[in-house]
Amino acid sequence: MDQRCFSLLDDIRRSKEAPLAGVCQLSGYIFSSTSPKIVRNQYIEQLLPVYRQASEEELKLCNGDWKYGSFFTTCLTECRLFLPYATKKFIAAGGQVTRQYVNSFSEVSQQNFDLLFNCTGLGARELCNDQQLVAMRGQVLKVRAPWVKLAFYGDYDTYILPGFEAVTIGGCRQYDSYNLNVCKYDSMAIKERCYGMLPSLKRAEVVRECVGLRPHRAVVRVESEILRLANGRTQKVVHNYGHGGYGVTTSPGTAKYAVKLARDLLAGNSKL
Ligand SMILES: Cc1cc2nc3c(=O)[nH]c(=O)nc-3n(C[C@H](O)[C@H](O)[C@H](O)COP(=O)(O)OP(=O)(O)OC[C@H]3O[C@@H](n4cnc5c(N)ncnc54)[C@H](O)[C@@H]3O)c2cc1C
Repeated sequence: MDQRCFSLLDDIRRSKEAPLAGVCQLSGYIFSSTSPKIVRNQYIEQLLPVYRQASEEELKLCNGDWKYGSFFTTCLTECRLFLPYATKKFIAAGGQVTRQYVNSFSEVSQQNFDLLFNCTGLGARELCNDQQLVAMRGQVLKVRAPWVKLAFYGDYDTYILPGFEAVTIGGCRQYDSYNLNVCKYDSMAIKERCYGMLPSLKRAEVVRECVGLRPHRAVVRVESEILRLANGRTQKVVHNYGHGGYGVTTSPGTAKYAVKLARDLLAGNSKL
């Protein structure tokens, strides 16, 4: 995430579009009982309007033997609202949406596009035969707890995040796991950790349980390429995938860079 990512979301948050876009301000704490490094992030600290060390009193705000903590204020983006909002803006600006499974770049290339943006997330594993791309499975529960107004992060992927309609409690990171089914043992572990931090959550109704596969790659791939297709033609492509567990946060920045690469490629300024 850089300043442009945060500003884009923060500008939406300040505008009348905020409730439609699903962007709001959120404050909270990140606690750790194991290491001070877990509660610090040199990049995020420079970006956010508030990021400071938690006081001794604040370390006692939720259950746990917390030794280190930070307080922050940031932007929350609820994708369930943001994606339809962004799609509407895209269409209003003249974009067209077609839903279709793509088996290969040759298949799309037949439609004579000047350039393709490849934003297929984990799908790029097959489409680009990219073995560096691996699923990082996550599971969360959505619970009804309107009394929870602050976010809390604890050790071992434990988080409690109030959103527009529900509070998200999580989570897990399972490397190279492609299981899209809800795992009852993961749910039990999530409940135990989150209820341990905030016992009032035991009274919250579970609205749904969700599983997702984060498209993990050691380095996010934002890169241009001129593909030589089986039919002898060439196709200009800009890849933009592999954002792992940070795609919502970082996408404004990587998208802007992808557009710059596309402009260079179309103008013939690319080194390819
Ligand atoms: C539990 C969980 C918690 C998370 N929390 C956060 C968070 O707090 N902050 C954050 O920033 N991020 C978070 N993420 C990560 C975030 O959701 C991802 O980084 C982001 O969704 C990646 O976006 P993407 O558009 O690159 O890929 P995706 O969202 O996976 O979208 C790829 C799209 O391409 C389509 N596609 C793939 N292959 C093909 C094909 N061959 N043909 C046609 N279409 C294809 C797919 O159907 C999909 O619609 C979380 C993820 C999970 C699972």
